[in-house]
Amino acid sequence: MAGLCVNRMSTDTKADAVKGPLVTLKGRRESLVKSWHIITIGNLSRNRYWGESDDRGVRAAICTCTVIKGDGFRVIVDPSLKDAGEMASELDRRTGLELSDIDTVFITHQHGDHHCGLPHFPRATWLAGNDVAAAMTKSARYNKPIKPAEKQIHDAIDVMPTPGHTMDHHGLRFDCAGLSVAIAGDAAATRDFWRERRGYFNAVDFKLSALTIDSISAIADVVVPGHDNYFLNLQPA
Ligand SMILES: [Zn+2]
Repeated sequence: MAGLCVNRMSTDTKADAVKGPLVTLKGRRESLVKSWHIITIGNLSRNRYWGESDDRGVRAAICTCTVIKGDGFRVIVDPSLKDAGEMASELDRRTGLELSDIDTVFITHQHGDHHCGLPHFPRATWLAGNDVAAAMTKSARYNKPIKPAEKQIHDAIDVMPTPGHTMDHHGLRFDCAGLSVAIAGDAAATRDFWRERRGYFNAVDFKLSALTIDSISAIADVVVPGHDNYFLNLQPA
């Protein structure tokens, strides 16, 4: 476990003395993952923490889309933009990569806003949890099968069951620069939903949603939610 001292500004030098590590990081420094990048910061169609009713959507939803770059791999998670030009432009703007540079697409769950950009990556391997892969392949919505993901992708990224929002929802976890990063998908809709341990309005199991947030919290220093910017999840040492 790596330690991190957080130094505070103060005019009182005695009180200011750093007494030791204040937070303990869960991630490892050694990792095949070299960088990760948010491509689109998502938003919800309705947000109870903004005073909006769960009963109807008031705006179009976009999910948070992430790219994970490592030694010999480039993975995109939940390709979020239906328009190929927009997807290409956002990918370039955030990473300098082209659509054809992506070798693997991972889909957290079967809700349409999390895979509407899938057809823009025809040469990549398409992965999801077992049931999601089977259901999406059976539906023949796209002209290529989605494969069930193994426990790890590229020997570097853990595939983790994150049930509650849907039963076969899966997130990813990896180490990068000493931080443990969890891509939670809709297991954590936004930071507010995470803080309140609450599933989004369309969750199939709210109790399980809360337990899943707890389990992600136990292993992640950084959380990438399904419809918000990433946030820190640091615990005192
Ligand atoms: Zn969803």
